[in-house]
Amino acid sequence: MLRCTSCGREYSLRKPYQRCECGEPLELELFKGVPGIGKRVWERFSQFYPFALDLEYSLGEGDTPLTKAKRLSKELGVKLYLKNETTNPTWSFKDRGTFIGIHRALELGFNKIGTVSTGNMAASVAAYGARFGLDTYILVSSSIAEEKLKALEAYGANIIKVHGDYGELYYKSLEIGRRKGIYFINSDDPFRVEGYKSISFEIAEEVTPDYVVIPTSSGGLFRGIVKGFLELKESGLIDKLPTFVAVQAEGCSPICRAFSEGRQKIERFENPHTIAHAIENPYPPSGNAVLRLLNELKGLCVAVSDEEILEAQQDLGREGIFVQPASATGIAAIRKFRGKIEENAKVVSILTGSGLKTLSHVKAGKIMECTLEKLEECMR
Ligand SMILES: *Cc1c(COP(=O)(O)O)cnc(C)c1O
Ligand SMILES: [Zn+2]
Repeated sequence: MLRCTSCGREYSLRKPYQRCECGEPLELELFKGVPGIGKRVWERFSQFYPFALDLEYSLGEGDTPLTKAKRLSKELGVKLYLKNETTNPTWSFKDRGTFIGIHRALELGFNKIGTVSTGNMAASVAAYGARFGLDTYILVSSSIAEEKLKALEAYGANIIKVHGDYGELYYKSLEIGRRKGIYFINSDDPFRVEGYKSISFEIAEEVTPDYVVIPTSSGGLFRGIVKGFLELKESGLIDKLPTFVAVQAEGCSPICRAFSEGRQKIERFENPHTIAHAIENPYPPSGNAVLRLLNELKGLCVAVSDEEILEAQQDLGREGIFVQPASATGIAAIRKFRGKIEENAKVVSILTGSGLKTLSHVKAGKIMECTLEKLEECMR
């Protein structure tokens, strides 16, 4: 059964329902289970999924490293763990959701899939569409950078540049998909969210966090991680939930704004502007659902500036991990919160995607230059 996150109305799993008539996103029930033994998270937590997964089609998504940050832990006075999602097959956590979302499409008998994205999700759906041999439609905004288009073309999907309101494209794609038999695995599709909860399972296998810090745009990732921890608690595998922290960029923070003003509904964020393009959604489709979770579970919402983001990106480089600006927001948030988080609290920051995707946004480093003859002198 699929249930509306807002009004509670129920929908059958036999049809490709994704959103409620009231406009809000649907989600699956909380699963309960006992973890098993297996190399892959999909095997160990198979009881938490509604169908068997065909691992022959996996590209190796998930089972990413959880790295204890050395310098940053010391500086910030917490035990900081970095969940490094940059090691996924298309270099972001989106692959977890795409893998489960495609299983859903196949279960319903679809042989065409699609998504609406300008970045990481487009690459992920294009790659897995190719892997599963499906007809794949990637709808991108007409302002997409040439560099990003090139990375997409490699996978052989049908790419369509759409001129017009990008926010409306999300809803339009679902409508066209219904008519044309294309299953759109968009940002907060119920099954994409199911894929993301595997991040929580992996974290819980290694630490019991006090805080989990989550870069938030559409809200799909936030919902997935919360659902994962709720299922672990329901199953008696953890005693308490961590505090969930949603992080947004100051230049596009519709959820934090509504949260701090005590509103129950988000409003469109006018004139969004941030270097963290991967989290620049001015009217997030799961924004209200995230607000509800923040209120119910006493979570936090923090907005950080572009400057703070770039500094955090450099800090992560010093830990040996190169992330994109959106993925550095968590560290910027923790720094902003210094003093408010208890000393030595266990904090997990989700590093959502690789810096190689956004090379134009790297703050220039120090480069020396010298002749071959003077090289030894140069290196002193
Ligand atoms: C998609 C994405 C996010 C935000 O995820 P949502 O599910 O849209 O909230 C954060 N960081 C990166 C790098 C992403 O690609
Ligand atoms: Zn509803």
